[in-house]
Amino acid sequence: MQHFASDNYAGICPEALQALLAANTGHAPAYGDDEWTRRASDRLREVFATDCDVYFVFNGTAANSLALASLCQSYHSVICHELAHVETDECGGPEFFSNGSKLLPARGEGGKLTPEAVREVIARRSDIHYPKPRVVTLTQATEIGTVYRPAEIAAIAELAHANGLRVHMDGARFANAIASLGAAPADITWRAGVDVLCFGGTKMGLPVGEAVIFFDRKLSEDFAWRCKQAGQLASKMRFLSAPWLGVLDGDVWLRHAAHANAMAQRLAAGLSGIPGARLLFPVEANGVFVELPPAVLEGLRARGWRFYTFIGAGGARFMCAWDIAPESVDALLADVRALSS
Ligand SMILES: *Cc1c(COP(=O)(O)O)cnc(C)c1O
Repeated sequence: MQHFASDNYAGICPEALQALLAANTGHAPAYGDDEWTRRASDRLREVFATDCDVYFVFNGTAANSLALASLCQSYHSVICHELAHVETDECGGPEFFSNGSKLLPARGEGGKLTPEAVREVIARRSDIHYPKPRVVTLTQATEIGTVYRPAEIAAIAELAHANGLRVHMDGARFANAIASLGAAPADITWRAGVDVLCFGGTKMGLPVGEAVIFFDRKLSEDFAWRCKQAGQLASKMRFLSAPWLGVLDGDVWLRHAAHANAMAQRLAAGLSGIPGARLLFPVEANGVFVELPPAVLEGLRARGWRFYTFIGAGGARFMCAWDIAPESVDALLADVRALSS
């Protein structure tokens, strides 16, 4: 049975697994000084069409926390959306690794920050008693399955840079955002003003790992030491980096992400025809948020379906992983229909 709780319930995609196995030959230098890590970094530089600095870490919490820490002093603050993963689901990791930089949550429709919301936080205080805003962080795709347009990112980044702030992007579902927008990766990152991207690998089908990508190389000075101290420098780094080669070659990552997005569309279309089901947000990536009667949710759980109801702004969240089959979506819909009638 396939589940809709999170995209990280899925296994490893065949292309990543193949690349992982291919890297398991003989001996290779440790700590990232190997052929696979070099090639994966070069492939990412090609994907982003720029000479960026690339690091591979184990998970998204580490990627975000260490990236934000590298942009902040302890007396700085980070402006984020109130639903941002860094605020709600990282156990204080960004504050811990930055030695105390404070997160300043702001509101915004559809899980997105706006220039107005960011400006309000920046203008709130400028006295010495308040942590100085230093970073804006955007989640792409957002925690509630919406997607920032390139112009929306550029407008926030322009305001941020004009006020001396850096721009970080939590791209745990960056692949889904790219597949949804049909944009070039450069167009929603460095060309739009993003300074650092945490590019999620796990949710798009890798066994483990995210890439931290610095578009401004001045910001990555000493980042390797930060990773090592935080326990994020893999000694057998090739097994973190090699799977990236499997999905970046031939745009496999975009094919998987487009499929996941299409399954979310299929689910949303089915739900919209069921009385009592109400979609909560536009479905623009691979997540569907829906309000369903408590009895229906209970019935789905009794039938074995797994999904979360604690994420975002209420309702049930159904995430479509890279491998969700149309039949799984249809089986879920059939159960929702049966329980709703
Ligand atoms: C899953 C996710 C992460 C990473 O979470 P880890 O469990 O630490 O890998 C980061 N940001 C968002 C928006 C996520 O959904």
